[in-house]
Order: sequence, then C-alpha cells, then structure tokens
Amino acid sequence: MNIEQLSKRLETVFEYIPNQSTLADIGSDHAYLPCYAVLKGKVTYAIAGEVAEGPYQSAVNQVVDANLTKQIEVRKGDGLEVISSGEVSCVTIAGMGGTLIAKILEEGKSKLTSTMRLVLQPNIGSVNVRKWLQTNGWAIVNESILREDNHIYEVICADFQTTNALTEQELLMGPFLLKEKNEAFVQKWNEEKKQLHQILQSLDQAKETPEVREKKKKIVRDITLIEEGLK
Ligand code: SAM
Repeated sequence: MNIEQLSKRLETVFEYIPNQSTLADIGSDHAYLPCYAVLKGKVTYAIAGEVAEGPYQSAVNQVVDANLTKQIEVRKGDGLEVISSGEVSCVTIAGMGGTLIAKILEEGKSKLTSTMRLVLQPNIGSVNVRKWLQTNGWAIVNESILREDNHIYEVICADFQTTNALTEQELLMGPFLLKEKNEAFVQKWNEEKKQLHQILQSLDQAKETPEVREKKKKIVRDITLIEEGLK
C-alpha cells in the first residue's frame, strides 16, 4: 500500500468520501488516505490527525515527500481535538476498534456538524459504532463488508439525519450488510457464531454466578440474532 495504491479496505473508505470534501482523517498514521484522496482530486484540503509521535512523524514525512504540504496539514492530538467545529465536511476514522471509534466520536461530538459525512471503519466491535450513531442522531446511509489478507472489515458511512431506530439485529450485523449478505458477511458471522459456541461451552464448565449467567444469556441471544441474520 502507498499513496497511489490503497488497500481494498482504505479504498472502500475512500469511496464513501463525497467529492470536493474537506477531510479530517483521525488516526491517520502514514496519511495514505488523505494523500490519495487529494491526489485523486476528491478532497480539496485535508487534516491528518494523530495522537502518537511515531505515526505523527510518519504522516508528516509522507505529506512532505508527496509534496502536499499546501493541501494537507498534519496535526498532533487526541481524536477530534485536532479540528475545530465545522472545519471539515467529512471525517474518516479507520483501522481501530469500534469501542475506540465510539469514544473518539463521543468525546469530540461538539466538533461534528449536521452537514458532515462520517466514514468509519472499525476492525472489531462495529456494534459499538452503530449504537453511538443511533444514540446521537446519525443515520447509516451505506455500509460495506470485505475480506482482505484473512481479515474481514466493515465500513460504515453515516450522515446526520433522522431515521427509524435500528433493531438489535441491525445494530449487531449492520442494516445494509444484512440485506446484502455477501460472502464476507456470511463468513464473518459463521466464525463469530463458532467462537460464541466455544465461549458458551467454557462458561458451562465455570461456576454458576450471576455474572456468568448474564454472560451466557447475552451469548445465547447473540447466537439467535446471528442465526436469524444468516437466514
Ligand atoms: N487510519 C489508518 C488506517 O486505517 O490504515 C491507520 C490505522 S492505525 C492501525 C491506528 C492509528 O490510530 C494509530 O496510528 C494510532 O496512533 C491512532 N490513534 C489511536 N487512538 C487515537 C486517538 N484517540 N486520536 C488520534 N489517533 C489515534
């Protein structure tokens, strides 16, 4: 992967960025996504945000090497603190866990405005991202699931608008992904189901405490939702 050729995962994130956007890529690391998006002419100006020194330096070097310092500013900071309210029209957060993405959105929600597009790519725990979106008035307008290098990735695209509440199953598995049920989706949820059965088996051997009972109940519920979703 480089600034001229993104991974399939980041290419999918790129596809959901609207034309002529101003972009904040939070947790940008190597800054491949903003560099690529500016070079393709889709993004007119970008901020690459990074909290860690190593990835921050790597983003700075990449932007300088690509001769894009006029169009891309690399800023060091935690989550959305690197932007001011309304500064950009699109925010991307990719390659992190869903819990961390939801935390970044929650802590920085004063920076988000109703005209923005959010493109979020949780590596795991996408249910946490969907729950945050639903609670905060963001509607999922598209989703993708894809397999690359033995991993399955989900990409969630959201706009600020009123929408019907998602069901428990849609929150877990994705409203658009459930409709499409492609190969990656079927593989992901069959694997999850297998893992949940294994956890259930080990919990069956554990001492029956109220916490264990609650955990088992939640797993049985998730297995039922997954089985229904796979039908
Ligand atoms: N977004 C790139 C991608 O998808 O290929 C890089 C993903 S990399 C695995 C995750 C990056 O997020 C790391 O460079 C990490 O330092 C950064 N990160 C984690 N938490 C962050 C936060 N709260 N604010 C900004 N960056 C963060």
